[in-house]
Amino acid sequence: MSTLRFKALETLPFKNFRKDNHVDVPAKLSELYCENVFSEETMREYLTKEAFQSILDAIRKGTKIQRHIADQVAVAMKDWALSKGVTHYTHWFQPLTGATAEKHDSFFTPIEGGRAIERFNGGMLIQQEPDASSFPNGGIRNTFEARGYTAWDPTSPAFIMGTTLCIPSIFISYTGETLDYKAPLLRALHAVDEAATEVMQYFDKNVTKVVPTLGWEQEYFLVDSALYQSRPDLVLTGKTLLGHSPAKGQQLDDHYFGSIPTRVMNFMKELEIECMKLGIPVTTRHNEVAPNQFELAPMFEEANVAVDHNSLLMDVMARVAHKHHFHILLHEKPFAGVNGSGKHNNWSLSTDTGENLLSPGKNPKKNLQFLTFFVNTIKAVHEYADLLRASIASASNDHRLGANEAPPAIISVFIGSQLYSVLSELEKVTNGKLSPEEKTELKLNVVGKIPEILLDNTDRNRTSPFAFTGNKFEIRAVGSSANCAESMTVMNTIAAKQLKEFKKEVDALIEKGLKKDEAIFNVLREYIKQSKNIMFEGDGYSDDWAKEAQKRGLSNLKTTPEALEREMDKKFVKLYEEMGVFSHVEVEARNEIKLEKYSTVIDIEARVLADIARNHIIPAALNYQNRLIDNVKGLKEIFGDKEFKALAKEQMSLITQISENVSIIKLGVEELLKAKDKAKSTTNSQKQAEAYCNEVKPLFDKIREASDALEMMVDDELWPLTKYRELLFTR
Ligand code: ADP
Ligand code: MG
Repeated sequence: MSTLRFKALETLPFKNFRKDNHVDVPAKLSELYCENVFSEETMREYLTKEAFQSILDAIRKGTKIQRHIADQVAVAMKDWALSKGVTHYTHWFQPLTGATAEKHDSFFTPIEGGRAIERFNGGMLIQQEPDASSFPNGGIRNTFEARGYTAWDPTSPAFIMGTTLCIPSIFISYTGETLDYKAPLLRALHAVDEAATEVMQYFDKNVTKVVPTLGWEQEYFLVDSALYQSRPDLVLTGKTLLGHSPAKGQQLDDHYFGSIPTRVMNFMKELEIECMKLGIPVTTRHNEVAPNQFELAPMFEEANVAVDHNSLLMDVMARVAHKHHFHILLHEKPFAGVNGSGKHNNWSLSTDTGENLLSPGKNPKKNLQFLTFFVNTIKAVHEYADLLRASIASASNDHRLGANEAPPAIISVFIGSQLYSVLSELEKVTNGKLSPEEKTELKLNVVGKIPEILLDNTDRNRTSPFAFTGNKFEIRAVGSSANCAESMTVMNTIAAKQLKEFKKEVDALIEKGLKKDEAIFNVLREYIKQSKNIMFEGDGYSDDWAKEAQKRGLSNLKTTPEALEREMDKKFVKLYEEMGVFSHVEVEARNEIKLEKYSTVIDIEARVLADIARNHIIPAALNYQNRLIDNVKGLKEIFGDKEFKALAKEQMSLITQISENVSIIKLGVEELLKAKDKAKSTTNSQKQAEAYCNEVKPLFDKIREASDALEMMVDDELWPLTKYRELLFTR
């Protein structure tokens, strides 16, 4: 056989070199930690006292770094990098393409007299100009002034990849609009810092800064790289567009937390070593539910650094996988019929005094503080659920949300029955001044009970898109390929807005003569009442919930175009402007980019499906059908008219079925291409995305069904596409 499938299969595991890619792990991984990071520790060693302090101030207080300090930092960075064999530097940034971007420049600089030096100064550190005209910008930059620049983000440490010094940066246009994921995130982090620090003055005047924390959990699939290369749909779209489910999938639940296959283990070990060197504090690894699906999670970090680390990780994973002859699939739904992949985003707020604001404390005062941030978060999600939904919307994540393996597209909040009953108690707090008895009662029996409740709050609802898990909220609907910055920008923006409102309302009540605690209880009571309908403890996968949610007036934005249309609501645009996260132009541009990306993804999938169906599936089916025809003809020749009919009955039936399916595919492809061309010619981006969603995408199924049926009929030896069984069970 000359098909790619068989060539790929021939290279497989029986060849032991793939399994023997043994990785030695040092006894203490901790010794590798931050080896390739310009960390605080390294900075202390390489920088002058003045420069070191200036960087710390930039990280902790957001102060600007003076030009002469930047020069000092640049020289120190260069010296450190050269000592590690580095030759180039790059501003490392996260444009809206979804991948990370870098443009390497050499330190090497020729000078007079045929000599050369290694040069790197403050100017080069602060700013670099990638040729930015081909990054998505949603029409912000006209092509004639198509230049953006990257600017150093000193709050995320520089690091070394290979022989390149990477400087985490933001990406902005010359007219000042943000063109990446990071710049708006930094603005949102600033907004929530300001708002939360203000609110903290009610509880602890020592707090001068609040930073959001993020702990992500990354799911992914590994497939053998030769098998991967043999599937044009995987290569071009990141997912399989065709393929019959194997007899064994995930029914036996024997993969989850099972022992990790040797080759995968070697990959994981090497990945962990690389992560350690880059300062990504990975701690957890295990098998996931689907065959060949795995998960990796780090210790949580400040959101900005955690976002960079997740983006970096996705990049590193691909490279390390390659060395072990694996290809990594970060697509949310690479295989039909088994679970897809997500990326849980665990979120909390932490103070510069070392407190987690979503963790209850030891006394009633600390617990009122906890309740304040807890209830405000719920209220924020209640007010801006649609925005949160839009932040996780993508063509690939649409396959996963609401598919009984991932949270539904309806945003709700799970807090556990016990905390729910605490909130119900708080709902009864008297309007206005509280009696001494009521205060004591609240202190002892409501607020005072919280730590105990949390200790045995073990009921975790995996079906909820937004769940409280003891000392943090977990956003579970984020897609595995997403940049965490998007949902984190929204989360922190809405928390900032909500905390600002809260401060205003509490202050107003204090002004009217209520004590601080009374005022807080009064405002929280109203918030609980207003947000109750978003709290849901039941099964998020059930149809009943969809009905119930509709009754409650909650949105169920099932598709990306629906979610993105909502994103442009005046209320949301105003919020972004007010919080200083996006200007109107920026929101519009990003919305446009996401719509275009959605349409492009479906367009590519449609074309790839059409190609495979016509050039691989139909010829294979006809090839087999011809064999059957020859067989029938032969039978007729040998047995004569009468006898042959009985003998060739099944073959004849197969011949007919093949023809039927071939014709479904052929007509289906024609219909698909027509619908696709029509969608493509739609000029309004919103309407275009809707056309791809409603007119093009549904046509995939018919073609797939017919092709998968053929896969079951055609001789295995003639089937050109590598099968699910082979992709999912080769380890
Ligand atoms: P699981 O959700 O799988 O049951 P855990 O509850 O132990 O696992 O934690 C999951 C993730 O939550 C980890 O990546 C961890 O770093 C993160 N996490 C824990 N505490 C915080 C916090 N205060 N802020 C943000 N993330 C956190
Ligand atoms: Mg989790």
